[in-house]
Amino acid sequence: MSRKFAGGKLVIASHNAGKVREIGQLLAAFDVQVISAGDLGLPEPEETGTTFVANAELKALAAAKAANFPALADDSGLAVDCLGGDPGIYSARWAGPSRDFAAAMELVHAKMGDATDRSARFVCALTLAWPDGHMESFEGVVEGSIIWPPRGPNGFGYDPFFLPKGGELTFGEMEAQAKHAISHRADAFAKLVAACFA
Ligand code: IMP
Repeated sequence: MSRKFAGGKLVIASHNAGKVREIGQLLAAFDVQVISAGDLGLPEPEETGTTFVANAELKALAAAKAANFPALADDSGLAVDCLGGDPGIYSARWAGPSRDFAAAMELVHAKMGDATDRSARFVCALTLAWPDGHMESFEGVVEGSIIWPPRGPNGFGYDPFFLPKGGELTFGEMEAQAKHAISHRADAFAKLVAACFA
């Protein structure tokens, strides 16, 4: 039986404005007062885990203990099949210290070369942690493929060159609501809500 979130303050343990915005939109229907880790001045722990879930857990736990409120962390990324799942948990790092995602997409595109298998997926691990150390973790996925050149100004990160399976618009071309209907983050979020907010 999963532990339930009792309502009230919830720290979003991320310094990524795109993620904080999307998580805020996904939580809008619930009795939650969202505070970002950035607003609280919480430090960003080093992501030393080797899986999305391990990194989400270490970020959520660090924020919950520092803030003394429940905290929700997201660790996510893009896994490209012909690159053996890269950039994977290193998706943010491939964009360099200046977080240049146009350059990161160029790098993925260059490494893929003329590979015929263009399949890829976004993966999202969400962890809800409490100050006493209890944690609940959930993983979501959206399947798709990499296109070139990138298209669309919406979303963030690798969205402009990701075409979800069966769709015609990239995540960069979709409105937020359309992305939320199918995204890896929404998939993980639905599992979190069913377990901890129901
Ligand atoms: P981290 O989880 O903070 O280590 O970083 C994950 C990175 O994966 C982000 O900085 C983005 O580059 C990428 N990423 C995760 N989710 C999405 C998404 O929904 N769209 C585009 N890129 C994403």
